[in-house]
Amino acid sequence: MRFDILTLFPEMFPGYLNASILRRAQEGEYVRVNLHTIRDYAVGKHRVTDEPPYGGGGGMVLKPEPIFAAAEAAIAQGQAKTGIAAVPPIILLTPQGRPFTQSVAQELSQQPWLVLLCGRYEGVDERVRQHLVTDEISIGDFVLTGGELAAMILVDAITRLLPDVLGAEDAAVSDSFATGLLEGPHYTKPETFRSWSVPAVVRSGHAANLARWRRQEALRRTWQRRPDLLLTANLSQADKQYLAVLAQET
Ligand code: SAM
Repeated sequence: MRFDILTLFPEMFPGYLNASILRRAQEGEYVRVNLHTIRDYAVGKHRVTDEPPYGGGGGMVLKPEPIFAAAEAAIAQGQAKTGIAAVPPIILLTPQGRPFTQSVAQELSQQPWLVLLCGRYEGVDERVRQHLVTDEISIGDFVLTGGELAAMILVDAITRLLPDVLGAEDAAVSDSFATGLLEGPHYTKPETFRSWSVPAVVRSGHAANLARWRRQEALRRTWQRRPDLLLTANLSQADKQYLAVLAQET
């Protein structure tokens, strides 16, 4: 999968993208991340990328010309490199976008190629949103200084869903939200730490008992922390019976 990221601050990305699973995913050529500096596409001696808003109001707004030029160059390069003729989704990171969730990550992981546009200051000129961008995504109901962290979050969450990126031991299928539930607790060595012991079922090596315990702990945790998820989760008869027990307990 290919990501082209348009940003004023490409130097923010290497630290995060070049470590751990994302580094391995790039080395294994499961993903390719291309950074494009919007300023390189600004014209004039000072390569101005932002101007005060018409009508006042404070702050600066990213100008449309360098953003269109950067996106068009990134798409032309990508088309030449990959042979993909179709224009990829161009996603603006913005607090006003649709909320980013695991199911949106799943949806986007089906795409071969995404362009991510990072805003700054007061955001981008509205004509970018109207005539260039094809999707808008928010990573939460708060306001960041820029879209770079949001872009890295998308790259991370999407990349770990790509086939073969995670080893079997890291498989994303049991992660929170993947099953519609929160994931249950994990334990590792030592068996006893400060008199707190790992539950016997976890140490038992009995696969069926352990699977049942994990499912029940996932249900318990979801019930306690995110009961809203239970409304849409795919629940078996046994799950419903266990939830009825939890309801009685409380
Ligand atoms: N004035 C804008 C507003 O009120 O909607 C906020 C601009 S914010 C200071 C600057 C940039 O950070 C945005 O253009 C966007 O790219 C990014 N950003 C901020 N919060 C974000 C969020 N929750 N999700 C995605 N991107 C965000």
